[in-house]
Parts: sequence; C-alpha cells; structure tokens
Amino acid sequence: MVKKIIFSGIQPTGNLHIGNYLGAVKNWVELQNNGEYQCYFCIVDYHSLTGDMKAGERHDQIIRTAAELLAAGVDPEKSVFYVQSHVPEHTELAWVFNTVTPISELERMTQFKDKSERQTKNINAGLFTYPVLQAADILLYHANIVPVGVDQFQHVELTRDIARWFNKRYGDYFPEAKALLTEIPKVMSLLEPTKKMSKSLGAGHVIELADELTVIEKKLKKAVTASEGGAKAPGVENLLLLLKQFGEEKVYKQFVQAEKDCSIRYGDLKNEVSNAVGNYFVGFRTRRAELLIDHNQIADILARGAKRACEVARSTMEDVRRLVGIR
Ligand code: ADP
Repeated sequence: MVKKIIFSGIQPTGNLHIGNYLGAVKNWVELQNNGEYQCYFCIVDYHSLTGDMKAGERHDQIIRTAAELLAAGVDPEKSVFYVQSHVPEHTELAWVFNTVTPISELERMTQFKDKSERQTKNINAGLFTYPVLQAADILLYHANIVPVGVDQFQHVELTRDIARWFNKRYGDYFPEAKALLTEIPKVMSLLEPTKKMSKSLGAGHVIELADELTVIEKKLKKAVTASEGGAKAPGVENLLLLLKQFGEEKVYKQFVQAEKDCSIRYGDLKNEVSNAVGNYFVGFRTRRAELLIDHNQIADILARGAKRACEVARSTMEDVRRLVGIR
C-alpha cells in the first residue's frame, strides 16, 4: 500500500504551548500512530531567523523543541523527525518557488500583515517570503496532508497554488497539498482571548506544556473571562474548550450547563482547567526532563532523521533541476 504523505513543521522559538499542541502536535502523534501515513515532522529553524531570537539561544532552543516533541509522542522510528537546515534542499526548492510566485499573492497573506505589525523594527524580506519556504518544506516530500492550526490555512492554500504554478510552467510534478485541522484549530490567548494564543504575545498569554501546576494556576487566575455588555465571553468559551479537551466529560458538561443558566463561577472553572491541564501533562514533563539530560542523544536522533529526509529531498531536487532545465 502506498502511504499518504504528511508534512508539518514547528519553529524553535520557545516552549510548546497548548495552542501548538491542540492545533497541531496532538494530531501529528495520532496520525503517526495510525499507521496509514508516512510522516515528516520538522523543526523549521530557517523560518525562525525571520524573528528576533538571539543567535546564541537558537541551538539550545532547537534541542529543547526536539525534546518536547519527543516527549509529546513524536516517535523517530515511525516518523522522519529532523531539523530543516540539515536538509539544504529546503532552501534550494524555495528559491525555485520564489520564481513562480507572484508578489501580489504574498501581499495577501494575513500572517505577514500580523507579524509585520508586531515586529515593526525587523520587517525583513524573509518574513514576506516565508510562505514560499513553507511550500518548499511541504512539497519537497510530495506531502498531500499538512496538519496545522487554522492560522496556517492560508499558507497551505498558497502551497497548492505554488504547485499549480510550477506544474503549469514546467510539467505536472507536484501534488495537491491539503491542510488538516483539528477539533480546536485555534486556541485563544488567556489575557486577550480575541487573539490566538501565541508565544510572541508574552508568557502570561500561553500555557506551556512544561508549566508546573502552580504556574498554570497563577496564569489562569489572571485569565480574562467575562466580557462587557453580556456578549458570549470568548475567554470563557476558550476555558470551556480546554476543559473539554483535558478534563472529564461529566465536569465539562456541568460547566456548560452552568454557563447556560448563568450559575457559572469563573473561579471554579479556572480551578478545574488548571487541574485538568496540569495533570494531563505530568507524563510529558517527566519525559521532557529525562530527555534533556542528554543533548547528544537528541542530536543523534535528529541527525538520523535528516539522513532519511535527505534521501527523498535530494531525489526531488534532481527532478526539479531537470524540469526547469538546469541539468
Ligand atoms: P507560534 O504561532 O506560537 O509562533 P508556530 O508558528 O511555530 O507557533 O506554530 C506551530 C504550529 O502550531 C502550527 O501548525 C500552528 O498553526 C499551530 N498553532 C500555533 N498557535 C496556535 C493556536 N493558538 N491554536 C491552534 N494552533 C496553533
């Protein structure tokens, strides 16, 4: 049986948070364990250069992100798990794709608009063209399925367009990639629940998978709940969704009912969510700590993954060079 191919990546820009987990990583692990797919999971370090992280922090952060993904269930025996910059074909293919992508299409990307508003002192060209590198990440492995959060949906659509533009000009070669969303494709910030939970908003906005129960409690105490004017509060909706995912169904249903009949106590809801999230990731925190004892072991796992990725990437680039007439 020919397996469908899955690709997804994550930037090594900080600890994983429950938005990354519920929007993407949980799905990665389920798809990987389902056995029907060949999965490629990549730490996209070149993408992270578009942000403001200092060079001295990057290498350790790559190892920490790898440890967290392993602790969350990514299995390097089942999936190809590696670092983007270890496979130079990613940036090579991105260059070719740059030459078939109209600038006007990149100007439509809402992520670019968002990020350039937040990162006003560093609006670099990489921030503008990173969706093209993302298309190369995906298509290098002929991936059909891309499990991501909803914020990445537009980029996967662009990937589909880039494949079409390439195929039209050089012959039918790249497949059609589709985004695969989870039940909760967008987890909201604790402090500004109309925005997506993101590490770039600041520590108080996110719950990290590595957070101890006491830290989670503190963050949730400050979480915004009621909204003005009696509208359905997005902060409460968000906490209920977290309870649904991490807590017991019975308790979740009680709180949904309490919200409907206006007897809900936000302090109680926050306590339940704290306990549910804290307990859910106990095993994760233990595995993470164990893995981080030996950075070399993690580096070995990533090197083995890169070797496997390189075999496919090299063959794709050979085809691409031939198709565009370079070789
Ligand atoms: P961040 O947005 O925190 O910088 P990344 O860009 O590295 O994180 O995203 C990694 C994956 O996590 C992507 O698939 C992205 O769609 C998903 N993701 C990030 N934040 C959220 C969120 N708040 N809700 C759901 N999915 C998310």
